[in-house]
Amino acid sequence: MTARSPAVNAATPRLPSVDKLLHTPALQALQQQYGTSSTTDAVRQVLEGLRPALRDGSLHADQVTETALVQATAQRLTERFAPRLRSVFNLTGTVLHTNLGRALLPQEAVDAVVEALTTPANLEYDLDTGGRGDRDDLVEQLVCELTGAEAATIVNNNAAAVLLALSTLAAGQEVVVSRGELVEIGGAFRIPDIMKRAGCQLVEVGTTNRTHAKDYAEAVTDATALLMKVHTSNYAVMGFTKSVSDAEVTAMAHERGLSMLVDLGSGTLVDLRQWGLPHEVTVRETVEAGADIVTFSGDKLLGGPQAGIIVGRKDLIAKIKKNPMKRALRVGKLTLAALEPTLRLYLHPEKLAERLTTLRLFTRPPADMQAQAEALRPQLQDVLGDAWVVETAAMHSQIGSGALPVDNLPSWGLKLYPASGKQAGRQLTQLEARLRALPRPVIGRLHDDALWLDLRCLEAPAQPQFEQQLHALR
Ligand SMILES: *Cc1c(COP(=O)(O)O)cnc(C)c1O
Repeated sequence: MTARSPAVNAATPRLPSVDKLLHTPALQALQQQYGTSSTTDAVRQVLEGLRPALRDGSLHADQVTETALVQATAQRLTERFAPRLRSVFNLTGTVLHTNLGRALLPQEAVDAVVEALTTPANLEYDLDTGGRGDRDDLVEQLVCELTGAEAATIVNNNAAAVLLALSTLAAGQEVVVSRGELVEIGGAFRIPDIMKRAGCQLVEVGTTNRTHAKDYAEAVTDATALLMKVHTSNYAVMGFTKSVSDAEVTAMAHERGLSMLVDLGSGTLVDLRQWGLPHEVTVRETVEAGADIVTFSGDKLLGGPQAGIIVGRKDLIAKIKKNPMKRALRVGKLTLAALEPTLRLYLHPEKLAERLTTLRLFTRPPADMQAQAEALRPQLQDVLGDAWVVETAAMHSQIGSGALPVDNLPSWGLKLYPASGKQAGRQLTQLEARLRALPRPVIGRLHDDALWLDLRCLEAPAQPQFEQQLHALR
């Protein structure tokens, strides 16, 4: 301040003051919409943003119109008030895409969540006695009916379920797991780390590709609490392999007076083969094989909200529920509100593929996607112009979230690649960015020097919205 001569200041045209701008009709309107303090902040930031250019002489105050300042302020406010969590089109071909929020929920769940959000509910209130209830009671019976288990409890996600089960049943003791099952799930869920956090000693047996019954048998000591099987959800060990079945490991555990814990990962409630999908071991099969505790996710194959479901022996579930960690890992009412109607859909298996969104997506006939691809191809070609080749193409979707990693679902979609091979990689990443910049971002998949848009997850009701925003690509 002191360095600046007053003469220069007087001669320099000045930007309008914050106060003056706030009294203009345009900013009065913005204040109505966004509030005075946010609007004031935004004006200040706009003016601040201009100061470096004014100072170094690249901009003169008389070049700055009031209209431009108002526009910049409105722009800032729009951005600030725009939601950060936004709908996208998932055309990646991965149905249960962890980064895009995994399972899409059925309408029944949506309605129940809205109701739970806006009205008081008997979350922990026993309507028969008027006394305190247990939130698990809302779904426990349904879960037991669908899995054949004696008891169940619900936590925040399957990682929490595994952590809680291990910490309750084996803290300070040893847990025997095959080396072929020491999985890492995206987002830093690793069996060895979870063991450590749960206070258990991991005892690895067998080798990466082969584990035998005797490996388990030899690993058991006085310090062993559990034998554990982990579903190798996101990879497959192929070739010269050997693993021991859940039933066999369970039998060994029980012979030695130990408990058997199975982390199923996806854990489907139904045999997917009835819809022509690959077989994934069900929770019921695992319970019937004798597992004492089984954990699985709510938002993978089950098609519900993010949750970890723990089922199994009544005495062990009771112990798990008494662990103080349960309180920290429990679910909120929104989760339970969404989970209950989702589970109830399973009581009517004939309609499941129609009503359970994820299963409907898994089972969409390829001919549907092919017809969509044919309808959309000319529209995309038109907006992208001659610089791009747009083709309909058969492709393969994935179930995702580690479920059935090597099984593909035949699908159809669009394959986009530059007409000229010059800097094809750069052109493709630029096109990806243009699609991401659409009002509802479109997320595809780069593969084989092309951008693939798998239409499996673009169901008919969403197609008009997809088409209407395409013009913005021009
Ligand atoms: C996905 C998965 C988890 C983690 O489940 P979240 O619900 O994502 O916490 C744990 N174990 C296995 C085997 C899994 O597949």
